[in-house]
Amino acid sequence: MAADINEYFSFYGKSDGPRLIILGAVHGNETCGTKAIRQVMAQLDGGTLKLERGRVTFVPVANPLAYQNNRRFGERNLNRMLKPYAEPAVFEDHIANWLCPLLADHDVLLDLHSFQGAGRPFVMVGPENNSGPIEPFQCAEQELALTKILGVQRAVDGWLETYDYGIKRRQAAGESVYALAEQNVQFGVGTTEYMRSQGGYAVTLECGNHLDPEAPAVALQAILNTLSHLGCTADTVAPVPRTMESLRLYDVIDKADAGDTFSREWASFDAITRGQEIGVRVNGEIMRAPEDGYIVFPDDQAGAGDEWFYLAKAHDRFE
Ligand SMILES: [Zn+2]
Repeated sequence: MAADINEYFSFYGKSDGPRLIILGAVHGNETCGTKAIRQVMAQLDGGTLKLERGRVTFVPVANPLAYQNNRRFGERNLNRMLKPYAEPAVFEDHIANWLCPLLADHDVLLDLHSFQGAGRPFVMVGPENNSGPIEPFQCAEQELALTKILGVQRAVDGWLETYDYGIKRRQAAGESVYALAEQNVQFGVGTTEYMRSQGGYAVTLECGNHLDPEAPAVALQAILNTLSHLGCTADTVAPVPRTMESLRLYDVIDKADAGDTFSREWASFDAITRGQEIGVRVNGEIMRAPEDGYIVFPDDQAGAGDEWFYLAKAHDRFE
């Protein structure tokens, strides 16, 4: 498909039901969702999969420019500052202007991604029900039920709260390396956060490494399980809820200098124990684990002022 054309496909069942939207390639080099979506659309077209109720909308390639270049972004990260733009400036702003109304016209979002490095698939989930200022939400039970039938066994929450915590700390420190645009929790709003802000619920499924040949199968199973779980397809065997490893993000540490370095090679979800050395800053400060838990999204390529790594700890919400 052309780099400047957006397309989506909606299928309607005979009777009313949930309105589900499934995204692939929000990041252009994450193609497992694209492959799985095309398989499911072929099954629906061929009649081997029947949509009984509701509507399912597929966006095989949410970011066609990034997809064509096999890169994460076109001109910026589509999965940040997602909102309609009165004066779109870069390519992703234009995508936002058709994607946001499309998301708002659905009830449930399954956003399919993949990741760098090693590790097993995991799902990113929104907050518990709350009416607080960061991410008010009232559909936590439905989102939790969806989380447990996707077929993966690791779930992580705490994203936007942790992002906001990091911003407040940067503001308190008055550090000049941070761009003004980033000093706002809205910068942390991606597809799932936008969906929740519009009254729906949503999960991000990280299906495996970008190049893992199994990742499209993880995405495919998740789509079929979601359709069955929501009652859109008439499968005789409903997906079984899985017990899950349950983690919560609680802190984000930025690089102060691009030369800040990790003390070893870290992969997401490597366990860390309290006091363990994680990295060393250029000024000699040794970064240690504040408590037992896990390192998440370590980025040794981060620049000054960028997110260096997140910290997570075990909890029991998804068990
Ligand atoms: Zn991604």
